[in-house]
Amino acid sequence: MGIDFSKIASIEMYQEGPVRVDPIASFKDAGLHPAMLRNVELAGYTVPTPIQRYCLPAIHLGYDVIGIAQTGSGKTAAFLIPILNKLMGKAKKWAAPRPNPVTFQEGVDREFRAEPLVVILSPTRELAVQIFNEARKFCYRTMLRPCVVYGGYGTRNEQRAQLQKGCDILIGTIGRLKDFLGDPKILTFRRVRYMVIDEADELLDEDWKEELDTIMCGGEQEEGNIKYLLFSATFPKRARDLAKTHLAETHVRLRVGRAG
Ligand code: ADP
Ligand code: MG
Repeated sequence: MGIDFSKIASIEMYQEGPVRVDPIASFKDAGLHPAMLRNVELAGYTVPTPIQRYCLPAIHLGYDVIGIAQTGSGKTAAFLIPILNKLMGKAKKWAAPRPNPVTFQEGVDREFRAEPLVVILSPTRELAVQIFNEARKFCYRTMLRPCVVYGGYGTRNEQRAQLQKGCDILIGTIGRLKDFLGDPKILTFRRVRYMVIDEADELLDEDWKEELDTIMCGGEQEEGNIKYLLFSATFPKRARDLAKTHLAETHVRLRVGRAG
């Protein structure tokens, strides 16, 4: 369980920058898709955390977002719920292609490539798996299919096989993503709508800049623009400067802090 925010009286939410969003009071009045609302309830989430109260409407409205809140404050669901909710509403229009279930032969059908709508970057394998598990809860009994990829000897073939069963939400570490992206028969980002960087202060670093640039633009974009969402517990100045090169000029910056 996360932090019990009802017991912390001095939580303050700062909205920085020109855009203001109205926070939601509960998951019920967030206008969620019935499948999402049910999965939120199944996850045992009764009250949205402060970062979730602001992030849900901000992402729903289509803003790029920087979300800063301490560890354990529910940042994962703050981006997963509104993104996956949007996907559920556009299921027909955006649906990622799937291999034909009748003719598909695992390990043989190598021509099928993954075209995810959402890409979530994680600095570590452990975090990637955590995000994947959270995504699975919210995708329960929907058509949405999450996949996770990360480095490590002996894991590549299985991950490739998973991707080639179809993938709407791809969570991964930079190295493996770049590896798969290098083979257009396996993975393309041309249909990506949302690009998320979790623990962004780790990856928004000069050391990662080249890697990140390759992934963030993801090559030829088929249509529409990509929304960029960055989440972190801290956001040092160097990360902020690098973030600016990716975010839309008008974006929402949300920071949860304790007063005093
Ligand atoms: P962060 O990324 O900010 O460190 P997490 O997203 O990992 O935080 O969430 C921390 C824990 O809180 C997780 O176990 C998650 O399932 C739980 N959690 C998140 N949001 C809620 C909520 N609204 N109600 C109850 N538990 C929540
Ligand atoms: Mg987190």
